[in-house]
Amino acid sequence: MAERILVTGGAGYIGSHACKALKNAGFIPVAFDNLSTGWSEAVRFGPFVQGDLMDRASIDAALAEWRPVAVMHFAALSLVGESMRDPGRYWRENVTGALNLIEATLAAGISRFVFSSTCATYGDQDGVILTEDTPQRPINAYGASKLAIEEMLENFAKSHGLDHVIFRYFNVAGCDPDAEIGEQHDPETHLIPLMLDAIAGRRPALTVFGSDYDTPDGTCIRDYVHVSDLAEAHVLGLRRLMNQGGSRVYCLGSGTGFSVREVIAHAGQITNSPVPIIEGGRRPGDPTRLVCGSERAKSELGWSPRRSTLDQMIADAWRWANRPGFTR
Ligand code: UDP
Repeated sequence: MAERILVTGGAGYIGSHACKALKNAGFIPVAFDNLSTGWSEAVRFGPFVQGDLMDRASIDAALAEWRPVAVMHFAALSLVGESMRDPGRYWRENVTGALNLIEATLAAGISRFVFSSTCATYGDQDGVILTEDTPQRPINAYGASKLAIEEMLENFAKSHGLDHVIFRYFNVAGCDPDAEIGEQHDPETHLIPLMLDAIAGRRPALTVFGSDYDTPDGTCIRDYVHVSDLAEAHVLGLRRLMNQGGSRVYCLGSGTGFSVREVIAHAGQITNSPVPIIEGGRRPGDPTRLVCGSERAKSELGWSPRRSTLDQMIADAWRWANRPGFTR
């Protein structure tokens, strides 16, 4: 009998790709999601439980019914701009939700936990390649809420033996190469899907958030990593937990930074269309530059990102954006 993994946020963008990778690796992913931002159509690789992390009883019931051997926790509010406008919601839902899940996990006798953290926990440390050892100084409530959960996990590891892997993602992009699942947010706020929508004429233009940053072309620099490569890392992290236990943090990125203008230029080439843009002001909470060093994930987990070139990510996202029957 295949082992089951509870995947919170399994109907979301990254969670659904992780479910596919888990299924391909021989596990049964049980997607647990409140569908506030996820889509039931994205649950294609295992059972679905509609539940809410703010409702401890719904977590207990899912764990009792499916008896997973580990929990992967993706479900969270994850928008920098929104977190600056409404920090209370981020502290309440992200931090309390994680606490409920961790306590329910331990109460069910499960001691393996994989957590989605973020490069937003680092804040603005321009010029530094960010690794697991870089001090974390978040500048937005989203990053602060994720850092609080990292600390929570460390506490529960010491007190209750909760073995965990924390992945700090950089900017996740692209879609499943088979286009079975993809990126679908409502409202969409992320650079690449918004840009592709503008190219396709589904939106008037992409607004560039700030051209006065201290970077060569004045726009923010980010490290983009393919969602399918990220999903593979989760399977490797899970195997590490199952084979050797203990707790470890890994940064996941491509190691290369691209400015907003560079991403726009690549998209124009790949789609063979100009990208309509409007110059806008800075978005509050945006650091200047985030670039990842992911040597640890490569050497310890054997992670080898295969699709994380910018062109591949844009091409996969473009195929998804043009899938038959899609209207936004
Ligand atoms: N960005 C932009 N216009 C948009 C959306 C994003 O210029 O409509 C910029 C944003 O300021 C950041 C980068 O694109 O520098 C990536 O933003 P995104 O929201 O995709 O991811 P985040 O960095 O917030 O995780």
